[in-house]
Amino acid sequence: MALVVQKFGGTSVADPSKIQAAAAKAIARHQAGDQVVVVVSAMGHQTDILVDLAKAITDRPSAREMDMLLSTGEQVSVALFAMAVQAAGHKAVSLTGAQIGIRTDSTHTKARIRSISTDHVKALLDSGAIVIAAGFQGIDQHGNITTLGRGGSDTTAVALAAVLDADLCEIYTDVDGVYTTDPRVLPDARRLGTISYDEMLELASLGAGVMHSRSIEFAKKFGVKVVVRSSFKDVPGTLILAADQAVKRPVSGVALAKDEARITLEGAPDQPGSSHALFSALAESGIAVDMIVQNVGRAGRADISFTVPEDDLSDALERTGRVARAIGAEGVSHDRMVAKVSVVGVGMEAEEGVAGRMFSALSAEKINVHMITTSEIKISALVGRGDGPAAVQAVHRAFGLHDAGSEPFDATTGGSLPKSTALDVVRRLEGMEDLAIEDCLLDSSQALVVFTDLPDTPGVAADVFQDVGNQGLLVDMIVQSHPRQGRAELSFTVPAESRDRALAAARAIAAARGATVADVPHVAKLSITGVGIRSHAGVADRLFKPLSDAGVNIDLVSTSEVRLNVIVAAEHGARCIEVLRRAFGLEA
Ligand code: ADP
Ligand code: ASP
Ligand code: MG
Repeated sequence: MALVVQKFGGTSVADPSKIQAAAAKAIARHQAGDQVVVVVSAMGHQTDILVDLAKAITDRPSAREMDMLLSTGEQVSVALFAMAVQAAGHKAVSLTGAQIGIRTDSTHTKARIRSISTDHVKALLDSGAIVIAAGFQGIDQHGNITTLGRGGSDTTAVALAAVLDADLCEIYTDVDGVYTTDPRVLPDARRLGTISYDEMLELASLGAGVMHSRSIEFAKKFGVKVVVRSSFKDVPGTLILAADQAVKRPVSGVALAKDEARITLEGAPDQPGSSHALFSALAESGIAVDMIVQNVGRAGRADISFTVPEDDLSDALERTGRVARAIGAEGVSHDRMVAKVSVVGVGMEAEEGVAGRMFSALSAEKINVHMITTSEIKISALVGRGDGPAAVQAVHRAFGLHDAGSEPFDATTGGSLPKSTALDVVRRLEGMEDLAIEDCLLDSSQALVVFTDLPDTPGVAADVFQDVGNQGLLVDMIVQSHPRQGRAELSFTVPAESRDRALAAARAIAAARGATVADVPHVAKLSITGVGIRSHAGVADRLFKPLSDAGVNIDLVSTSEVRLNVIVAAEHGARCIEVLRRAFGLEA
């Protein structure tokens, strides 16, 4: 007998007949001899309707009352779902988040799960009932109802699967799996048979709305086997699993975050404490920042740019303005009309030329790239918002993703997954959804190449990385700053032994473009690895502060959900590792 968690999204329970059809799926599982927990979202667009109702009353509803309101959507759907199961002659019990015992922190409208009690659910399952759990909601220590953030029912489902040690978590939705990009945006997109946790986590966090990214944090941390499949068609879907079991491709998918905004703190004093002052102020209000880029300082001044979700822009601007005044920066600029296009793939680390292909595709469409950041498994480019869809299409084609065949899999006989290597770390966490830091690594094998004064025109990054790729050089980190006065800065790292070739290629490009090139033959790359690094606000600052206290300047930063990297001068490497191990509680 297996234990299966099935989650049905809003469209899958949009009307009574759809609820009955979903109930039939749960009953079929139960009749096959499995224990079944169903997690349900609010019907159709009910949550949007409730949000609009609140807006009709006030511009600034209190977050506590929003949660009280929004949680009703799921309370309706679980009751109806249980009735549908009962009407078909089977035992079912519906439960709210509070009744299950889903304890969260008190961050209303984006609460994080701290613990889930399993006794009640297990007793009901043992009594032969199908348990119907309300998604997206919990209760804090004072008894207030909380919600987990839009799309949070996925997180309820995977978290329940984790604590119940379920054999499988099925996410039923209106697409038949995870696609190479949003099939609604690009009909060319193809379904993937399997995808690794890390790739799904990155794609979801970078804009692929098919899964709530926090649900994949749970899946990875607790080794939950997740299948995304259609509520309406009986086809296999996509299996999300550990990287060593998924197919390794240089690029698995393309994501578009269309509601991004860019902020630049201009002319900040180029000294270790500036980043810390800025990012601690942002972390305080729980704003998750991405694409952090600092220009190499000129005349003792540096620009620090970053992106935030557009919803957080006004709050972030206010805080950045305050920091600018406090540290004596020159000013703050922002751009509300940007979008972030990202390619994600676990195989890109070992393949040359991936960046070149991405930027050439954008250049061929005359799309200007405002900023670039990378991690081991993703490359993100900031573009004008209007260019977003064309950028996705160009990049998707360039990597041949429209041809990608879906590899078959068998979700029922996939065998048990090896439990996540992070489990030891997870056991020490106070709250289930707390940030899990696994390790702190030092890589002293790379060289840094920096272009300054590159013209801000389409095709520059394409030229650079096509040339570098043609030389067979493996580029690791890439960072392009937000341009000022029409000139941008572009830095990248390569293995130290290929430095001469990289430099020769860079000099030729710089000469043709009127730019300058500098290099550092050996740098230290420090990495913090774990799960949920970008989605937990303030992680970057936990790294900036100790390095700033130690008087170490950071040359480059890159963030992803599973890794935070910084480049510092080689001579600081060993000392910084000690400092960071202490700061992140990783001492032996
Ligand atoms: P649910 O209500 O079931 O949770 P969502 O609307 O949250 O459903 O998620 C499903 C939607 O995600 C799809 O309709 C699709 O438009 C969108 N989507 C975005 N990126 C992807 C992707 N890479 N693969 C599949 N669907 C995607
Ligand atoms: N009903 C909530 C929402 O629309 C949660 C969910 O569907 O996952 O965001
Ligand atoms: Mg969803």
